[in-house]
Amino acid sequence: MTVAPGASSRLAVLALGSNVGDSAATLQAALDALGATAGIRVVAVSSLYRTDPVGGPQQDDFLNAVALVDTDLGPRDLLAACQGIEAAFHRVREVRWGPRTLDVDIIALDDMIDDDPDLTLPHPRAAERAFVCIPWAEVDPDAVIPGGRAVAELVAELDRSGVSRLAAPVLRVPGGPR
Ligand code: ATP
Ligand code: CA
Ligand code: CA
Repeated sequence: MTVAPGASSRLAVLALGSNVGDSAATLQAALDALGATAGIRVVAVSSLYRTDPVGGPQQDDFLNAVALVDTDLGPRDLLAACQGIEAAFHRVREVRWGPRTLDVDIIALDDMIDDDPDLTLPHPRAAERAFVCIPWAEVDPDAVIPGGRAVAELVAELDRSGVSRLAAPVLRVPGGPR
């Protein structure tokens, strides 16, 4: 699929994850909140994937998904919007890479490259994460990591054993068909 953002807007790739509470409901609510944010339109969303936790302490499996959004927001405002939605789900962050109700990462924003630790673009660990690359390739098979490799190529090389696509439930694009 080719996704053509509007003239002055940017295409962002967002990775969502949850492993505390009703994760599928949380991820849908997070998508709805993104779609309800001024300057953000959700264009596409992947299947849900059940994934083994990577790094961090022993913890429950995650549900992960990737959404493509068209946005008029600059990088800072987009990050603030994502973090505001995380906060709305009472995310607590006690342990690095530990359990969380909701995590929303900006994987890429157009072809921007930035090593700012507050917002590194593209996300510095995206290429090594099957739980990001597999759903990303599902929604955009031709995606390329800015400054890096084709996502479909990475998927072919990564260990995919900890990532399984769920036939149901299915996430909905806010405002899209039911
Ligand atoms: P990881 O970044 O390895 O996925 P995490 O998602 O658990 O780990 P957080 O605790 O959610 O990490 O985020 C830590 C900080 O990362 C945030 O405060 C944010 O400023 C910064 N950050 C840097 N680059 C990005 C990005 N591309 N998307 C989201 N946050 C980012
Ligand atoms: Ca993350
Ligand atoms: Ca994060």
